[in-house]
Amino acid sequence: MATVVAFHAHPDDEVVLTGGTLARAAAGGHRVVVVAATDGRVRNDDVDRVSELRNSARTLGAKRVECLGYADSGFGTEFYPDPPGRVRFARADTEEAAQRLAAILREEEADLLLSYQANGGYGHRDHVQVHHVGKRAAELAGTPRVLEATMPREMLIRVANAARLLRLPAPYGRDVLRAAYAPSSSITHRINVFRFARQKRDALAAHRSQIGTTGAAARLFAVLMRLPPQVAGLMFGREWFVDPTLPAGRVYRDIFE
Ligand SMILES: [Zn+2]
Repeated sequence: MATVVAFHAHPDDEVVLTGGTLARAAAGGHRVVVVAATDGRVRNDDVDRVSELRNSARTLGAKRVECLGYADSGFGTEFYPDPPGRVRFARADTEEAAQRLAAILREEEADLLLSYQANGGYGHRDHVQVHHVGKRAAELAGTPRVLEATMPREMLIRVANAARLLRLPAPYGRDVLRAAYAPSSSITHRINVFRFARQKRDALAAHRSQIGTTGAAARLFAVLMRLPPQVAGLMFGREWFVDPTLPAGRVYRDIFE
C-alpha cells in the first residue's frame, strides 16, 4: 500500500481538484494525507475554514489533515499587504514553507505528492506558490513522484460556453480560460472517479461557509449543479494530472501507475 500526500492552497481545493482521486486511493487501502497551505482567511476576522477542511478530508478518507497556517493571498490584480501577525502564502519564503511540507513528507514516507502546475491552474497566486513549494519539498524529502493536479482546458471552455448559453455566471473569465490549467494533449493521468461522485459532493458540502460565496470553487460548482448532467458529468466523474517527467501521449488511469 502507498501513502499519498495531497498539497493544496485553500480549504475546498482538495475536493475540486483531487476529491475523487483521494477517495479512490483511500478505498483502495492507501494512506491519504491532506495538507493545506492556507487556512482560507484573507482577513484575520474571516471564517476559519480549517474545521471544514478536516470534515471534508475525512469524508474523502484522509487519515491526517494539516494546515500550514498561511493567510490566503486573494485572487485579482491587487495583492494585499500581510494581515497583522500573519504571512500571505504567495509572499512566504519558499524554502521555509518547503521545509515544513518536507517534514510531513518524510514523517509519512510519502510515495506520491499531489501538487499543482506552474501556472497555478487558473492563476491564483497561492496556487502558483503551491507548485514551487511542492516541487522543492519533494526534492528535500526525496519523494519519488509528484503529480500535478489539473483540468483539461478544452473541457473548461465547453463548460463556460454551456453556462453562457444557459445565462449562468461564467466560472472563469475568457481571458483566464485561454491559459488555464492544461491542454488535453499534455495530460498524463485521467482518473475515473464516477464511483466517488457522492463522496466528492458530500466533501464539498462540508465547506459550509463557502456555499453561495464568490470563491472560484463555489462559482464553478454552482454552475455545474445547474448544467445538464452530461456536461456536469464530464467534470464530476473524472480528475486529471500531469507528471512532468513523463512524455505526453500515453494516458494512465491510476495515480499509482
Ligand atoms: Zn484555491
